[in-house]
Amino acid sequence: MTDVTMEKIVSLCKRRGFIFQGSEIYGGLAGTWDYGPLGVTLKKNIEHLWWKRFVLDREDIYGVDAAILMNQDVWKASGHVGGFSDPLVEDVKTKKRFRADHLLEDAGIDPRGMTLADMDAAIKSKRLASPDGNALGDVRQFNMMFKTHVGATEDEASVSYLRPETAQGMFVNFKNVLDVFHPKLPFGLAQIGKVFRNEIAPRDFIFRVRELEQMEIEYFVKPGEWRSVFDAFQAEQKTFLAEDLGLPVEKIHQVEISAADRAHYSKHSVDTEFDFPFGQKELLGLAYRTDFDLGAHAKASGVDLSYYDEETKERFIPHCIEPTFGVGRLLLAVIASAYREDEQGGEVRTYLALAPRVAPIKAAVFPLLRNKPELVAKAREVYAMLKKQVPHIVWDDNGNIGKRYRRQDEIGTPACITIDFDTLGEKPELKDTVTVRDRDTGSQERISISDLVMRIRV
Ligand code: ATP
Repeated sequence: MTDVTMEKIVSLCKRRGFIFQGSEIYGGLAGTWDYGPLGVTLKKNIEHLWWKRFVLDREDIYGVDAAILMNQDVWKASGHVGGFSDPLVEDVKTKKRFRADHLLEDAGIDPRGMTLADMDAAIKSKRLASPDGNALGDVRQFNMMFKTHVGATEDEASVSYLRPETAQGMFVNFKNVLDVFHPKLPFGLAQIGKVFRNEIAPRDFIFRVRELEQMEIEYFVKPGEWRSVFDAFQAEQKTFLAEDLGLPVEKIHQVEISAADRAHYSKHSVDTEFDFPFGQKELLGLAYRTDFDLGAHAKASGVDLSYYDEETKERFIPHCIEPTFGVGRLLLAVIASAYREDEQGGEVRTYLALAPRVAPIKAAVFPLLRNKPELVAKAREVYAMLKKQVPHIVWDDNGNIGKRYRRQDEIGTPACITIDFDTLGEKPELKDTVTVRDRDTGSQERISISDLVMRIRV
């Protein structure tokens, strides 16, 4: 078994161009990360698989892409201005701030279900100090929304927030979609987009960041029908992880959240947790938001957000089930569970056993030798032909074949295609065939150029 540490993953991500520190040349900005060429492709693959499963393949979910900046009244009505906060505690000497629940966890105390006062009492009775060894102040709430002003005037009326969830962009568009498309219940809206949370303590690489991407669905149902839809989405979340992303099922855990720990809008929540190298942590959420949001927006805006059921002749506010997925956490789970080390040809090698669907590069094409024009010409021809059909392939003629294999292994490329003298017809029976080397086993097979697209297409 490979010992997968975060150091190894962070190092591979940087070395191979998946993820870099945000604003690195200025010393970074805590809680921000930049995706490099391979990271962005992997991220888009995850997003595409999600969009395909939850939007394209269904008839009942409508995609939207709402603005990040919204009228501040949205966040008042949704409860975020008043309640979107984490418990904060300050080191009285250094003024550094920490999550109270995290300090308790680190001290072996389970903070689940604790109120603010409970946490404060626990920290005081156990005489917990800050990680720097100093005394801690009182535990208080810290609102995690980034506040800003829209336009040239900085007053109360111009206040806005960078959205801390994509969900509200869908609730405020509920009526638009209803009026234009006339969907019958149950139906949903889906969105992929950036959100911002001023996390007190960003940590664990891209696991807890201040700028992140979410993929969310707000699925509207008749009030009495929430349970079966909830259960179906819970199962579908697991299927997405295992079948689309190739995550190992034994590392996926679905955990019901107690009433004390649920978000303010939720009546029932199940988190999907994953065995990350730093422990079992939340990967996805699923919440029964009832009619909380539509009800609150209808009241605050004065706009009727009810639904008229033609069969029962009843008018009511639909209830909502919300499956939510963090793209960065998914990407981290994908890389961490694909990370492998083994020995090949007497050398240790590192590779990513990515499912071909998610792999950023599907195949690499090499001429056996870069200084033989006839090999290079033939390899270029094969590359151009494949690239038209499978865009995510690369050309590599740098260094010897062994080095090229190592490079591709580290980024999880499932197949390496080599054009050699037999391709040119040195052995006439092998003319127009190439070798295809498998990433995981290192074994090679000879196949005809005309079969290559079939072999590498995912
Ligand atoms: P946590 O308890 O870890 O802070 P949360 O319960 O606040 O997460 P939700 O509000 O349910 O998270 O957000 C939905 C999803 O968005 C999470 O399941 C996670 O995948 C992702 N997410 C939330 N906060 C962050 C963050 N700071 N960094 C990266 N991903 C995040």
